[in-house]
Amino acid sequence: MSIFQAIKQQTNIKQIMEHYGVKFRGTTASCCFHNEKTPSMTISQSKQIFKCHGCGVGGDSIFFVAKLFGISPIDAVKKINSDFRLHVTEINPTRKIISQHQIEEAKKKIEQQKQNMEDFIFQKMWSKHKDLRCMPPSEAFYDNLSKLLETEECKYYGI
Ligand SMILES: [Zn+2]
Repeated sequence: MSIFQAIKQQTNIKQIMEHYGVKFRGTTASCCFHNEKTPSMTISQSKQIFKCHGCGVGGDSIFFVAKLFGISPIDAVKKINSDFRLHVTEINPTRKIISQHQIEEAKKKIEQQKQNMEDFIFQKMWSKHKDLRCMPPSEAFYDNLSKLLETEECKYYGI
């Protein structure tokens, strides 16, 4: 679960909006993003979203806080987390949004590194055990190989 989901799961959009100054009558309130005399902002409890039918702004509670304070969604999450003392700690809040292309590039890079790693292992074993060319592998060969396969690099590359 992302920190966004975790925060939303533990809060209610009405509770959040009220905390930051929106005054509701039932599910309707005056919009805080444009001047109006007749309240045209509504919330959906089932969807946990708000919508202003006057200026068109709408979204979830995190978007609301981000827009209200002019901060990024991740900063909004942090703000809600601390203002409501939710103590949600999560993985990697600085995680970037990456494109499919970047993912493909990263996959290629890992494949390349994996290949390099396999070559490296092969060479390392080969230089240590030149007798392999004409003899069945010795006990020491398997011993060294298993040690090598236990290293973090090998684990990282899934070898
Ligand atoms: Zn509005």
